[in-house]
Amino acid sequence: MIGRRVSCRTRSWIVCLGFLTAGPAAALAADCPGHPDALGTSRTIVVDPREHPRIGTMQYRETLPLRDHEVVLTFDDGPLPKYSNQVLQILANECIKATFFTIGAQAQANPEGVRKLVAAGHTVGTHSQNHPLTFEKMPIEKAQTEIDTGIASVTAAMTDPSALAPFFRIPGLLRAEGVENLLASRGIQLWSADFLADDWRHVSPERVYQLAIQRLEAKGKGILLLHDIQPRTVAALPKIIRDLKARGYRIVHVVPATADRPATPTEPVEWMLHPASENVAVVRWPKIPSFVFTRNETLRAPLLSDLNAELPRQAGSSHWGVAKAGAESLAVPSRDLFEIKEGSLEVLMSTSASRHVARLARTNAADAISSRNAKGRGRAAAVATHGGKHPPAARATAKRMAQNANASAARPTKLASLKKRPQ
Ligand SMILES: [Zn+2]
Repeated sequence: MIGRRVSCRTRSWIVCLGFLTAGPAAALAADCPGHPDALGTSRTIVVDPREHPRIGTMQYRETLPLRDHEVVLTFDDGPLPKYSNQVLQILANECIKATFFTIGAQAQANPEGVRKLVAAGHTVGTHSQNHPLTFEKMPIEKAQTEIDTGIASVTAAMTDPSALAPFFRIPGLLRAEGVENLLASRGIQLWSADFLADDWRHVSPERVYQLAIQRLEAKGKGILLLHDIQPRTVAALPKIIRDLKARGYRIVHVVPATADRPATPTEPVEWMLHPASENVAVVRWPKIPSFVFTRNETLRAPLLSDLNAELPRQAGSSHWGVAKAGAESLAVPSRDLFEIKEGSLEVLMSTSASRHVARLARTNAADAISSRNAKGRGRAAAVATHGGKHPPAARATAKRMAQNANASAARPTKLASLKKRPQ
């Protein structure tokens, strides 16, 4: 009874009237004759193709104004008696109303199948005359012929031509802007889908069922696209419906608005699958600025003159080789630049520790010389100068260091060994 209340609230009085008078074709879950556990059809919505010309979030911004856990079932490519009749029976057992996108050639071959759809209370749209999978690239004139011929064929199969809904689905969902504009200009609503179940592929009925439920669960509501000409769809459909009920989903029937049947009042935001709100996280990262580099050439290598270095003055600049303006890079310094000239101990001992050791060496050397000179002048003078604390070993060391300092600075100085010596 939910459907009756909802439909009446939406001022679709014809739909309300239909529910009250159409008998089994409009039965609901609570009163599905012989099927007390049927899923049923929870409500019917009336849509105006001119207000919402393209629906189905697989391709378009909008979809049907469904509430959470509401599903619209659609079936393409029929009618094909062998399977379409079985689909009709399954839906009847569940008192479900669906939308069928029929092919003109199929309607010509099986007009009775079209009439069965209408008699069962389903919505019937079209799906072209011959189902060409070239809509995205065919000339618009040819597309128009496919559309119009399909509509004529399906309409011809109906007892009441007004039963045809101005709903169209492009074969293969191969959309093209020209086709979309053409349909919109004629007040025909273009249906894509919100999810598929891949039932036209060579997959098992179990796989069809899994995909239908998984993809529905991912979106929470929407338009499911199936085919009523596939045996795997027939096999999967009862399980899909049972699971929809177990998971709390409800079936919504969709009919087109007419002069006597106004569209269900809705707000624009309801036509969004998941309207943005403060409670829904959305990605709105700031736009990355487009940097413009004013110069992109490689900077030249610095010249010695840039570094305030004193360039060699000898002709040919033999030390630096390329010390001239515009050089790409610095040359490897020549080997003789690092040679230590004789007597350059101060340069070698450039650290403070080394300088200290050098001072000590010079002092001890001077002491050693004066000590030799003092021989014969009396030991007392020597004791007065150094406190009499230099042992013989220290004097020998001082003498050796003095010789080193005075004779040659080329030998490396071993600081570790020097530190151990008495000072
Ligand atoms: Zn198709």
